Amino acid sequence: MSEFALIAAIRRRVADTREDVVLGIGDDAALLDVPAGSRLVACTDTLVEGVHFLRGTAPADLGWKSLAVNLSDLAAMGAKPAWALLALTLPDGNAAFVDGFADGFAALAGAHGVALVGGDTTQGPLTITVTALGFVPVDRALQRAGAHAGDAVFVTGTPGDAAAALRLLQDGRVPGPVLLARLRRPTPRVAAGLALRGVATACIDVSDGLVADLGHVCAASGVGAEIELAALPLSRTLSVAFDANACHRFALAGGDDYELCFTAPAARADAVMHAGATLDLPVTCIGRVVAGQGVRVLDAHGNTFAVPHAGWEHFST
Ligand code: ADP
Ligand code: MG
Repeated sequence: MSEFALIAAIRRRVADTREDVVLGIGDDAALLDVPAGSRLVACTDTLVEGVHFLRGTAPADLGWKSLAVNLSDLAAMGAKPAWALLALTLPDGNAAFVDGFADGFAALAGAHGVALVGGDTTQGPLTITVTALGFVPVDRALQRAGAHAGDAVFVTGTPGDAAAALRLLQDGRVPGPVLLARLRRPTPRVAAGLALRGVATACIDVSDGLVADLGHVCAASGVGAEIELAALPLSRTLSVAFDANACHRFALAGGDDYELCFTAPAARADAVMHAGATLDLPVTCIGRVVAGQGVRVLDAHGNTFAVPHAGWEHFST
């Protein structure tokens, strides 16, 4: 397929209009209406074959995940997703790949009312860059800075599942469908992000590992944090598949969960739990914000639990 046939194939499958899209795919750039009283929230994330996903990953899963990782960033800001752009670099003009990719992308975009308003299509090693755009009312965005000593630390969902699935695949084993779905079709916690506006004092999405990402919140906020090992919400599926020590390592240092980790004053814990119950999403208090710096994990005896490598970093040796 030629470049223009590929673009047409994507366009056939992914919605590219909304009322606020003045001009979408087809011109040199899109024209978009940002609602009065809102800020535009913008983020972009790239998936590279062999780095962010294994060779042979199903195209539809890639389509889903390339958008999911971006909607997760918007969620962490408390933003409502609106538009996306898609820069696709493909080794060849494989029509089946593009059809599958676009279907996976469309499934998640449709669920969040996101319109694809532009992109770029080029030839080269398989690389997918999505840019997501959304809105947040002025001064209501959640940020990494804002956590205070005394706040409680929360996490949504059950961290560790995606990393466990990846480990099994890398070991040549077949993860069960629950763990596999957590790796291939992560759920961006968009509704949770919206519900946390005015409740959370700081927020981040967990893409690199809970300890590493909470560490970013601490650095931005000028505080430290303590996580209680016993409080980590491990999924049943994970607990059945691995021993406790492995589960803890996956939950603390494994990436790719796309859960939200956030802080809130202990006095707002009820509001946080209510938000979780309303969304039918487990929300768990896993520790507290303290004066100082860095993240410490405490075992049942109050001793420091050594976390293996603390998150993924490109260009690290
Ligand atoms: P230009 O050469 O001006 O950059 P292109 O020929 O690359 O324009 O793209 C034509 C139109 O198709 C543009 O509106 C662009 O945003 C859109 N487009 C290109 N590739 C994609 C893609 N992978 N997904 C969505 N829109 C795309
Ligand atoms: Mg172009």
